[in-house]
Amino acid sequence: MLARIFALEPLLVALGIGVVGAILALIVRLVKGDGASSLLRALETLITAALGAFLARTFILLVLELGDNTDAAVVVTSLLFTIWPGVINLVSWAFGDPIIGVNGLLWTALVIGGLVGLNDGLWAIHRWLGPGVATFLLDVTWGIAGSTNGVLLHLINIGWGGHGDGDPENRKSAHRYSSGFRLKSGFAFTQGAVMSNMGGRTPGSDLHKHESIHVWQNRILGPFFWFSYMGWMAVLFLPALIVGLIAKSVGDTILYWCYYDDPWEVMAYEIANDYARTHPKKWLCWPLPVAIPLNVLVTGGLAAVFAWIVSVGF
Ligand SMILES: [Zn+2]
Repeated sequence: MLARIFALEPLLVALGIGVVGAILALIVRLVKGDGASSLLRALETLITAALGAFLARTFILLVLELGDNTDAAVVVTSLLFTIWPGVINLVSWAFGDPIIGVNGLLWTALVIGGLVGLNDGLWAIHRWLGPGVATFLLDVTWGIAGSTNGVLLHLINIGWGGHGDGDPENRKSAHRYSSGFRLKSGFAFTQGAVMSNMGGRTPGSDLHKHESIHVWQNRILGPFFWFSYMGWMAVLFLPALIVGLIAKSVGDTILYWCYYDDPWEVMAYEIANDYARTHPKKWLCWPLPVAIPLNVLVTGGLAAVFAWIVSVGF
């Protein structure tokens, strides 16, 4: 086991990602005029990128070990913790074997963890003399499903996202892009610890508090957060469409039932910015005591279906 965790090749690649990150951080900070202190950021990025790669790979290796490295374990682990490679595996598994096997998944995790750490170090998001160790560890292990999408946001937002930088932005345990990828104009979009399309809403603003709650939902609940959030949307879509047609307000019913009434949204709005979630038609706006038990049912139902598919796959 230890020999697999500390295998030479992945260690060298993790270190390589760290070195690339360090060079990148050095260039970016020098261009931004940081002078000699750029070296410190380069060192931080070297450590977070290399360690992120190592920790993510180690975490997935341990999870796969728990499942005896079977095909089912590979499919479930890849789906729960890296989402999209898991979707590829689930589909290919239906026709034979998961395309991305144990080795492929370990390398995938290494690259994802490395890119999470690289961006975290480059933008100095973790407050090391506070929750930084925990936020970093959770983002590259238990919360890596959300972080995988966070990496995609980083990649999409390169060059036009406008990453927050400087004194009020750094060490706030999350990335903030003022522009960048969004699902709906005027709405922020947060995955893992990456907030996209935030406009000018800096740390301390209500919107930043709202999105920070999503960041922590992902850290605490790991894959269960992402899948129950999306599962709610998927399950509520058809009922919302039907009720919306009857009530002659399709757009609003879908927007409220699928998005605003998603329990994780209800929680974030209630804590941070409840005024932003009101509607004259009261039945569109569900309270948390209704949304949470329903979410447990929805998530439980989806998990049961998934478990059935996996067991049939044996
Ligand atoms: Zn939200």
